[in-house]
Amino acid sequence: MAFAAPRILWVVQGAISVGLRKPSVGHFFRDLARNPNRSNNHLMPELPEVETMRRGVLPIIGCRIRSAERPPCPRRPIVFTPRIDAFDRRVRDQRIADVIRRGKRVMVVLEDEQTIVMEPRMTGLVLLSDPPTTDHLRLRLNLSDGLAHQLLFWDRRGLGTVRLLKKSEIATVVDAKLGVDALSITADQLRDKLGKSRRAIKVALLDQSAVAGIGNLYAAEILFLAGIDPRTRCDQLTGPQWKRIQACTSEVLLEAIRHEGSTLSDGTYRNAINGEGSYQNYHRVYDRADSTCSRCGLAAISRIVQSQRSTFFCPVCQQKRGQHKSLANG
Ligand SMILES: [Zn+2]
Repeated sequence: MAFAAPRILWVVQGAISVGLRKPSVGHFFRDLARNPNRSNNHLMPELPEVETMRRGVLPIIGCRIRSAERPPCPRRPIVFTPRIDAFDRRVRDQRIADVIRRGKRVMVVLEDEQTIVMEPRMTGLVLLSDPPTTDHLRLRLNLSDGLAHQLLFWDRRGLGTVRLLKKSEIATVVDAKLGVDALSITADQLRDKLGKSRRAIKVALLDQSAVAGIGNLYAAEILFLAGIDPRTRCDQLTGPQWKRIQACTSEVLLEAIRHEGSTLSDGTYRNAINGEGSYQNYHRVYDRADSTCSRCGLAAISRIVQSQRSTFFCPVCQQKRGQHKSLANG
């Protein structure tokens, strides 16, 4: 518990400094006592935040890379390959052909088909400008001949990664680890991947090799919208329930993208110009333990721990056996 005081101080200061909704400090203490690894529950960003970053940096398309540099960073170094001198040599004078997303990664495709793969993991940001601090800046691409003059990768905790890959390496380094993207997966694909699993559906939805892009926050929101108990074993879900999960996955993720993702009480996630997302104002269950359920108006939202991660759900709206209709369809 020795780390608790500075972390709490930081959370409160961070929330005040960026003007976010007031963090629930009482709730935070309670959570911390139950689960000292609470920080793992804030594994952001997820698909909507990374997609927002991707859309935000689209002005770099068509720009030419003049140089790549790693600014001096006194913090924990990120995984960065190859070394910056080789990285710079390989990307210099290349034109940026596209910016795509795979799961929770932003990928900058160059005209010679090399790709810069940026994985924000917990606290990474892909930015055009205005990094939250200069201490945690990990990569700067200096650009010319287009709408943007730089691309930045920033990471406070240093768990993110930046990799420059040849086209031939994408299949093994990126694609082999990822299932179908959560925005394009079909109900049949979802069932094929997970339908025989004995894992709880909430835990299984976080498996990036099955479906790419869903994390702890959106898994809870998706299952609430689908009216499915997060503890239900995958092999006990019915065909209609898989269809509901798929439909609600699309609905929740697209809704979150429209709101530019969720900036939680720790204030870390920012869009490409260092602004906040607003989907945190629309969460139905995530981090709302003890609040009255917005759907039934009867039960309090429950918090349980599954695989060391918090799960939030309504014990009335999300009962097993799927007798409750989904919110999405009615
Ligand atoms: Zn309810």
